[in-house]
Amino acid sequence: MSPKTADVLIIGGGVIGTSIAYYLARRKVRVVLLEKGELAGGTSGACDGLVFLQSKKPGVHLELALTSQKLFQKLDRRLPVPIHYQNKGGLIVVESEEEQEAMQAHVKKCRSNGLDVRLLDRRDLLQMEPHLSPELLGAAYSPLDSQVNPISLAQGLALGAGDHGAKILTRTEVLDIECTGTKIEAVQTSRGRIQTRTVVNAAGVWAPAIARMAGIDLPISPRRGQILVTEPLPLLLGKCLLSARYIGAKYKPGPQSGRGGGVSMEQTESGNLLLGSTREFVGFDRRTSLAGLKGVAGACSRIIPALRDVLAIRSFAGLRPYTPDGLPLLGLVPALSGLVLAAGHEGDGIALAPVTGLLIAQLITDGTTDISLEAFSCGRFGEGD
Ligand SMILES: Cc1cc2nc3c(=O)[nH]c(=O)nc-3n(C[C@H](O)[C@H](O)[C@H](O)COP(=O)(O)OP(=O)(O)OC[C@H]3O[C@@H](n4cnc5c(N)ncnc54)[C@H](O)[C@@H]3O)c2cc1C
Repeated sequence: MSPKTADVLIIGGGVIGTSIAYYLARRKVRVVLLEKGELAGGTSGACDGLVFLQSKKPGVHLELALTSQKLFQKLDRRLPVPIHYQNKGGLIVVESEEEQEAMQAHVKKCRSNGLDVRLLDRRDLLQMEPHLSPELLGAAYSPLDSQVNPISLAQGLALGAGDHGAKILTRTEVLDIECTGTKIEAVQTSRGRIQTRTVVNAAGVWAPAIARMAGIDLPISPRRGQILVTEPLPLLLGKCLLSARYIGAKYKPGPQSGRGGGVSMEQTESGNLLLGSTREFVGFDRRTSLAGLKGVAGACSRIIPALRDVLAIRSFAGLRPYTPDGLPLLGLVPALSGLVLAAGHEGDGIALAPVTGLLIAQLITDGTTDISLEAFSCGRFGEGD
C-alpha cells in the first residue's frame, strides 16, 4: 500500500533521486521516492559510468566532483550490493596542437584547484596504454578518475535508502503537485495522493514537466547520446578515456557538438567496451541512428585502431539533461516554498550523484550545505525565482 504522507517526497528513481533518498534516510528523514517506471529506467540506465574529475569546470564544479569521488569510496564499502566502482585513473587524449594548448591551460587550472592531474607525452601515453594510436599527441592523466556501473549504483543507493527506512515506489507516476498559495500541500500519483510539504524534483530530462505542475519553467532540455557496445574482448583499455574534443563539445551547444564531437570509452569488467557518444538535440527521441553510430565507431577506431576489427553487439541512446551553462540546477525554488531542484546534470550525473545526494540532504535537514549551491540556483537563468 502506498503511504499517505511523507516528510520528503522525491520524484525520480535515477542516480540523483536514489542518492538523495539514501543520504536523507541516513539522517532519519521519512522519505518516499516515486519512480514512474523502474529504477534507472531513464538516463541513468542508458549512459556510461565514467566518474571523471578532470573533465569538470575548474572551480565549484570540480569541487563537487572531488567531494563526490571521496563519497564513492565510502559507498563502495557501505552499499548492500556491489556497484562495480573501479578507481582506474583516466585519460583525456589529445589529437591536435590546438587541443594540446587548451589542455595545458585546463590542466594548470585543475591543478590549482587541488586535482592530481598531469600531462603525458606520446611515449608515456603509449607505455600506459599500448593499444592507443601512435598518432595521438599525448593526454592529460588523473589517477583519481574512476568508473562505476550506473544501474548498480542506483539500485545500491535505493536498497541502502530502504535499509534506513525510505520507501521506494516504482511504477508510480506523479500526475500533479497540489499547492496552496506559495506552499506545497500534496502530490497526486497514479497510486493515490501523498501529503507532503517538501518535494524534490530529481526527474532528469523530465524535471521541466514536473516543475510545470507547480507553474515553474526550468531550462533543461534532452541532449541525446548514442553508445555502441562491443563484444567482450581481452584488455584493450586499462583506463577510462575521453578525448579533448569531447570536452569541447560538452560545453558548446552548437552544431559542432553533434556527431563527431569526440569520444568516451570504457572497458567493463566483462570485457565489453562502451564506445560513445553523440551530443544531439533531437527532443525525446531515444532511438539510435546509423549516422550517429558510424560517427562514434569511426572516431573511436582512430583512437584505438584495433577496434576496426571487433564486433559491435548492441547500441542504445540516452538523454542528457542539458542546461545552458552545463551546470546542474540544485537547491530551493524561491517562488514555491518546499520545492527543491536536483536536476540538469548533463553528462556528469553519475560522477556527481553522491555529492548531490549529500548536499540536498544537508539543505533539507540543516538549511545549509558544505559547498555553496549559489552557482547552481535556478535564479541564475532568471527563472523560477
Ligand atoms: C550517452 C550518455 C553517456 C553518459 N555518460 C556519463 C558518464 O560517463 N558519467 C557521468 O557522470 N554521467 C554520464 N551521463 C549523464 C548521466 O547519465 C545523467 O546525468 C544522469 O543519469 C541523470 O540522472 P537523473 O537521476 O537526474 O535522471 P534519470 O536517470 O533520467 O532519472 C529521472 C527519473 O525520473 C523518472 N520520472 C520522470 N517523470 C516522472 C513522473 N512524472 N513520476 C515519477 N517518476 C518520473 C524517470 O522515469 C527517470 O527514471 C551520460 C549520459 C548519456 C545520455
